[in-house]
Amino acid sequence: MVDLTRTYDVLVIGGGNAAVCAAVTAREAGATVLLLEHAPKHFRGGNSRHTRNFRGMHTAPTKVLTGAYLEDEYWDDLNRVTGGHTDEALARMTIRVSAEMTPWMEACGVRFQPALSGTLSLSRTNAFFLGGGKALLNAYYATAARLGVDILYDAEVTHLHVDDGFVRSADITYRGFPATVTARCVVAASGGFQANLDWMRKYWGDAVDNFVIRGTPYAKGRVLRDLLDQGVAPIGDPTQFHAVALDARSPQFDGGISTRLDSVPFSIVVNRDGQRFYDEGEDVWPKRYAIWGRLIAQQPGQIAYSICDAKAFELFMPSVYPALKADSIAELAHKMGLDVATVEKTVADYNAAVQPGRFDSSGLDECRTEGITPPKTHWARRIEEGPFYGYPLRPGITFTYLGVKVNENARVLMADGKPSANLFASGEIMAGNILGRGYLAGFGMTIGTVFGRIAGREAARHARN
Ligand SMILES: Cc1cc2nc3c(=O)[nH]c(=O)nc-3n(C[C@H](O)[C@H](O)[C@H](O)COP(=O)(O)OP(=O)(O)OC[C@H]3O[C@@H](n4cnc5c(N)ncnc54)[C@H](O)[C@@H]3O)c2cc1C
Repeated sequence: MVDLTRTYDVLVIGGGNAAVCAAVTAREAGATVLLLEHAPKHFRGGNSRHTRNFRGMHTAPTKVLTGAYLEDEYWDDLNRVTGGHTDEALARMTIRVSAEMTPWMEACGVRFQPALSGTLSLSRTNAFFLGGGKALLNAYYATAARLGVDILYDAEVTHLHVDDGFVRSADITYRGFPATVTARCVVAASGGFQANLDWMRKYWGDAVDNFVIRGTPYAKGRVLRDLLDQGVAPIGDPTQFHAVALDARSPQFDGGISTRLDSVPFSIVVNRDGQRFYDEGEDVWPKRYAIWGRLIAQQPGQIAYSICDAKAFELFMPSVYPALKADSIAELAHKMGLDVATVEKTVADYNAAVQPGRFDSSGLDECRTEGITPPKTHWARRIEEGPFYGYPLRPGITFTYLGVKVNENARVLMADGKPSANLFASGEIMAGNILGRGYLAGFGMTIGTVFGRIAGREAARHARN
């Protein structure tokens, strides 16, 4: 039974994966725990409820992962995608601990799919949740309730009273009414600020009005801003975000995974002016899908159009919306609202540049263009077999990189380098310590699970002492 007049051992802020992992772990360690989720119950779970998988180190095949994925390979993958914007000690620790996570997750009721192959070919490195992130969260929430974690929905933390690195209390708004909560320790697990368009506008101007936020509208960064304003050390570039190509017809918030489009490598992509602007076949899609949101964000009007023909249409997972379909490129361009003559010329120039070669949709193949800029370096085949298909694309923002600095015990660091006495962080709000740039599929859930467990454990230990 929630009692806001009581001093809890651990206050957990947030309702996604990082928060529930911290709350369950702290409760398992004997602490009294209050979890505050800004969203109402039916929207609980933040971006975590849209997820599908978790990236885990393993030394031999498991029920849910094929082959082996060892620390050094995992680290090399991370180091490459971040371009070195990571803390090696924290990253290697996260990787090692990831190997121990799935038994604990299963003990909390999380179920995994048998290893599978799919568009992102991740069966060796990533374990897929049976029922997706929503089922995973339902399992964690059921476990938390069974263990006696107190949970309040519709409860937004509006301000933490931080005094020389010590959190004294939290101001909250519960169903619109103000209240103050005290706790011996606090775990901040309130995600990024990607749903705060005014904050994003500072860096991107009015282009943000054309951004689609893939996940929860509750990731407004209120706790993050509040902590940074009170002398907590920041980490990560505030201007940067992870973004993918989304169907432009997606809702502005919370469309989730089904609005993503994977058509790019098997199509050409033109901007509002009917011009191609980047090599669509630069590398295999798992290594390139995360750059296309930013590429589209940099185009006029933040919109682009993917165009392919009948033979390419079967090769990718479609979005939830039907493709625009036409018997000619001219008709398709007209349906997309683009200048017909320009698009016809772009397609004709591209077709003329396509070289003969062996086509292979499953890996880097020999099909490329010659003599056009930008080139298409793989999967370049002439667009000539009707019907022709097109999708409008927008930048779909997944998460932001700015966060709070932490140490290996998930303890938040102040700007002077000193650890906070009783404030811990897990998940997206501290992910920038490890993932300062780029992305590795499944690593967001790994960071949240590993640091959620550490934050819960350390907060409970501190509170019980
Ligand atoms: C469509 C989509 C698919 C994804 N797929 C994957 C995947 O398959 N694998 C993977 O590893 N990663 C994936 N990610 C990234 C992943 O979602 C994040 O890395 C991860 O969910 C972060 O967990 P979190 O708990 O830190 O944040 P979130 O899950 O976003 O949770 C933040 C929580 O904080 C709450 N909150 C915010 N502010 C306050 C406040 N002031 N007071 C109280 N509560 C507050 C929110 O309501 C929310 O419940 C995906 C993201 C998206 C958008």
